[in-house]
Amino acid sequence: MSTTGDDKLKKIVSHAKEYGFVFPSSEIYDGLSATYDYGQLGTELKKNIKDYWWKSMVQMHDNIVGIDAAIFMHPKTWKASGHVDAFNDPLIDNKDSKKRYRADVLLEEHIEKIRGKIKKEVTKAAKRFGGSFEEAMFLETNPKVQKYNDQIKMIEDRMRTYLENEDLVALKQLIEELGITCPISGSKNWTDVRQFNLMFSTELGSIADDSNKIYLRPETAQGIFVNFLNVQKTGRMKIPFGIAQIGKAFRNEIIARQFIFRMREFEQMEMQFFVKPGTEIDWYNTWKERRIKWHKALGFDASRYRFHDHIKLAHYANAAADIEFDFPMGFKELEGIHSRTDFDLSAHEELSGKKMQYFDPEDNKSYVPFVVETSIGLDRMFLAVMSNSLVEEKLEDNSERTVLNIPAFLAPVKAAVLPLTKKDGLPEKANEIINRLKFDFNCQYDEKDSIGKRYRRQDAIGTPFCVTVDHQTLEDNTVTIRYRDTMEQERVSIEALEKMLDVKTNVKHVLAQLND
Ligand code: ATP
Repeated sequence: MSTTGDDKLKKIVSHAKEYGFVFPSSEIYDGLSATYDYGQLGTELKKNIKDYWWKSMVQMHDNIVGIDAAIFMHPKTWKASGHVDAFNDPLIDNKDSKKRYRADVLLEEHIEKIRGKIKKEVTKAAKRFGGSFEEAMFLETNPKVQKYNDQIKMIEDRMRTYLENEDLVALKQLIEELGITCPISGSKNWTDVRQFNLMFSTELGSIADDSNKIYLRPETAQGIFVNFLNVQKTGRMKIPFGIAQIGKAFRNEIIARQFIFRMREFEQMEMQFFVKPGTEIDWYNTWKERRIKWHKALGFDASRYRFHDHIKLAHYANAAADIEFDFPMGFKELEGIHSRTDFDLSAHEELSGKKMQYFDPEDNKSYVPFVVETSIGLDRMFLAVMSNSLVEEKLEDNSERTVLNIPAFLAPVKAAVLPLTKKDGLPEKANEIINRLKFDFNCQYDEKDSIGKRYRRQDAIGTPFCVTVDHQTLEDNTVTIRYRDTMEQERVSIEALEKMLDVKTNVKHVLAQLND
């Protein structure tokens, strides 16, 4: 990670802790690695993100319904899904630093470095040629760039082949051949590459033997697959239809760094869309479009998102792409969209001996549906929102403020109601206003410190509106609204305030942009 990226992430971590968004888990015992607890404001933000996703999926689509399956599942589930045999990471250790890495990640980072060299060539040439510089032409014809692109292609091709064939020896050879060094020790002293299964296991009941071994689910999707017919029949669903779910997933991640980006216990928001075989690629493209639209409706700069088509397809997929977000650590996966074929349902059909087929009344025949999945990490989405929103601003009078300019509909607190002084009936009036608003909006009351300090505190937690109650309020029922982003103030009636809060903070106005 670059120093600036590193600094930015550190700022987010400390801000999140200082203001009650995210705490290290079991902190009094020095924390537990890669596990975090959401505090009072983080929980609100997380809930608002979940609502936005749930409503956009379930409420906005009459052919998508939601379920909540158990975390524990029959162990055969994970045999069928391929997780027992194939949910592995190829790991390699550096003998000097004793640090463990994913072999494919080391190679991908090496590719990124080569891409960096191409960028440098472009910058150099742009300077040299000035106004007459044509980047596309340069990228196509410059011999150095071509050499770099050939290198990237060679690495990608070999990596894909080795990963597909599980050729761990060749994977290590490639790392050695490229002279990849450990970022900590700087040495090339590597162990062999080994496979490591990412599922956590535990025992059901009191007897610890292998027959009682069960797993904590590494993805929520299987809870949907095993319930596919339950939902289809009881909900009288017709293909194409979807099942959505939000829930915890667990992975024994080896490189669990980067705050809530990669945790061992995390939350997923997944939707499996069941379609007629042969139509899956059209639906895959449709869901790619729908999902990027969902992200862009947040209003963040479009350049912070990009699609990344997978080189190595998972064992179950015939097409897959990630929506990557420009996190402080660079572009990383935020959401996956996968065309999972009929792999899971067919595997469950085979192992359970139960039919997993849909009778299509239009074609008058039964088939195992194909599945297109959208899968987003709630915690990663939380980090995306935080990293886009946390800014330090220099103001006109040269002072600084830290502001979390979260989209208003996601903000943990929608309005802070602040009596100008602690006396003359102003606190009572402020509470009266909260009592009116609290049915629809999460509000906060604050009477401590100067009004300026109180504004800053609300800026730091992302409250879009501060409502100040002063002596005039007692006379004419008007208040001052102060806007977080512009810091402008305006006098409005309490009634107008209620309407304004609804227009500016209700998720329905964002959902309306997604109507398809
Ligand atoms: P990565 O390549 O980053 O390990 P993945 O491809 O294994 O991710 P998927 O299996 O596609 O991830 O899971 C779907 C989504 O779940 C991801 O896009 C991500 O947002 C989230 N996710 C996966 N692993 C973690 C984790 N350890 N911590 C937090 N979120 C995660």
